[in-house]
Amino acid sequence: AEPPEAPSQLQVATPPFDINAVRRDFPILAERVNGRPLIWLDNAATTQKPQAVIDRLAYFYAHENSNIHRAAHELAARATDAYEAARHKVARFLGAGSPEEIVFVRGATEAINLVAKTWGAQNIGPGDEIVVSLLEHHANIVPWQQLAAASGAKIRVIPVDDDGQILLDEYQKLLNSRTRLVAITQVSNALGTVTPVKQIIDLAHRAGARVLVDGAQSVSHLRVNVQALDADFFVFSGHKVFAPTGIGVVYAKKELLEAMPPWQGGGNMIADVTFERTQYQPPPNKFEAGTGNIADAVGLGAALDYVERIGLENIAHYEHLLLDYATQGLKTVPGLRLVGTARDKTSVLSFVLEGYRTEEVGAALNRDGIAVRSGHHCAQPILRRFGLEATVRPSLAFYNTCEEVDTLVAVLHRLARGKG
Ligand code: PLP
Repeated sequence: AEPPEAPSQLQVATPPFDINAVRRDFPILAERVNGRPLIWLDNAATTQKPQAVIDRLAYFYAHENSNIHRAAHELAARATDAYEAARHKVARFLGAGSPEEIVFVRGATEAINLVAKTWGAQNIGPGDEIVVSLLEHHANIVPWQQLAAASGAKIRVIPVDDDGQILLDEYQKLLNSRTRLVAITQVSNALGTVTPVKQIIDLAHRAGARVLVDGAQSVSHLRVNVQALDADFFVFSGHKVFAPTGIGVVYAKKELLEAMPPWQGGGNMIADVTFERTQYQPPPNKFEAGTGNIADAVGLGAALDYVERIGLENIAHYEHLLLDYATQGLKTVPGLRLVGTARDKTSVLSFVLEGYRTEEVGAALNRDGIAVRSGHHCAQPILRRFGLEATVRPSLAFYNTCEEVDTLVAVLHRLARGKG
């Protein structure tokens, strides 16, 4: 019989960019952890920041810092220009029709809550139905549950097959004249499944429903065009696409934003206030009450510039090869069960290892400088679909290498041999 294929004999993933130069762009990748070079495989939780983003934040605070829109002085103009330039960059990055369709929020969680509390409260009533999938992160479940409880609506759940891909036939059966909204992730954070969002959106629209796409796990891995998708709402978090924490985005079609009531009230979002009535600003300002996260929005703009310089198509191509390489490597580990084997998936590997609790595997990897997430990944329903409460989840970015994957696989082999 043929000897089993060792990881070193696998097709090595070669990036269409200078990976050493890219790695040097991320200062944290030179860190050492427990005496070993850091291997950052927790990208689905958060991504590392390139020097260009770190420098952009420092430049903002050194040369531009001011509150925006209000004061008529030079620094207010600089800060406002930088903030609005970031909004333009986000609009271009998502293929939005205009920057007015981009609302800055803290992250994907706040983005989904904003839509639920405004559009949802206005458009969803007793007996209406909200469709989500079994793959969703808790951030795309709980706000809809709260809305359903407050409005008397029902939550319907799209099931998935044994590979972790949603069942389109079952989805179609869930759609009916009561369906008001479909809230669906583009990429599962727990399994890496890429869902067929275009088909999901088209079918929802045929049933007269709106669609919110959770892009928290997709925008760093694949090209998104909200107009080509015809998404009604699209949300993401900056920190998962190499930008700072505390900044995120709601994209919504202009006519939706115009019709939606504001969420929070306060400064910045008003045009005129008397004690009798308040007139609001047009979108997006209507949804940006108070002083926002100005510097980190500017940092997000710098992160998107950086990603565009590498090229999302290049990133997607390389990560696809790296995911194949890592999948083959993990399959050589005795007693390792991979969860999430959809044909269309990206950058996430979820597994359990016989004889070990997931946190033991995480701790063992950490001793070798390897950062992975172990736990339920804020997506308990999908793990329970596979009879699990937790998995170990290495997740990839374009700065990861085959050598790093080899180290991961070698440590897992050691564990599998009982030499943790
Ligand atoms: N949606 C998905 C698919 C996610 O993976 C995450 C974060 O893990 C979120 C939403 C929530 O993002 P944040 O915690 O940045 O608000």
